[in-house]
Amino acid sequence: MEELEVEGLVIRETQTGEADEILTILTADHGKITISGRGVRSMRNKHAASVQLFSYSTLLLNKPKKYYYITDSFFIENFMGIRYDVEKLALATYLCDVAAEFSLEDVPNPALMQLTLNTLYAIAYRDDIPLSRIKAAFEFRVICEEGFAPELYACGICRCDLTEGGYLDVMNGRVLCRNCQEKYVNSAAYALDEATAKIHVRVTPAVLCAMRYILSAPMKKLLSFQVEKSDGEILAVACERYLLNHLEHTFSSLEYYHALLDNRL
Ligand SMILES: [Zn+2]
Repeated sequence: MEELEVEGLVIRETQTGEADEILTILTADHGKITISGRGVRSMRNKHAASVQLFSYSTLLLNKPKKYYYITDSFFIENFMGIRYDVEKLALATYLCDVAAEFSLEDVPNPALMQLTLNTLYAIAYRDDIPLSRIKAAFEFRVICEEGFAPELYACGICRCDLTEGGYLDVMNGRVLCRNCQEKYVNSAAYALDEATAKIHVRVTPAVLCAMRYILSAPMKKLLSFQVEKSDGEILAVACERYLLNHLEHTFSSLEYYHALLDNRL
């Protein structure tokens, strides 16, 4: 029987019976692990605290057949601040869906693990940082960590240094200066792609600067940047579009998050 000790973060729970659920756990060394949680929804279950959504725990697992089962657990952190705020809860759920998308079983991904843990910590406890900024930083860094960072330091066509900002060409992973973008939108290549108009996001110098920071900052300092409100709004659009375009689909949890924000306006 296969046995394993991991530090795992619960990123998804699927109820399968009154007290049972299938849990998806994110780990640094083993990627994503699927666990059968028999009886864990019962209040009396000794693992109940360790297997709630967003709980981070040391877990002892065994695998008699298809699924892992929990034989022992030691609770570390549950990011309590997320649970009492509907907007934080919705955002954390979406970001965990993104983490689940990028993690594979038996493929170590310590960067994704650290990014996800740090982000949940910020959502839960860093009330000095706007949630939209935390979201943007996660979205852009996660896609960069996967190897899809755009070229941010020079125009993708003329190689100028983008001192006046430019247009993030989401589809092609580059930024175009105003001149090149104008020429490009009048070209035959652009006319062929109706979607292109939606995937050139105008980025100010400050937004470009923030994206460069998110791309290369040490993980622990990922959120140590400032942007003005209007730049923060552009950054939010640019990072979300860049991620979703690469994934080629959206998430119901993201749509819910947006609906929640729209209803609050
Ligand atoms: Zn150019």
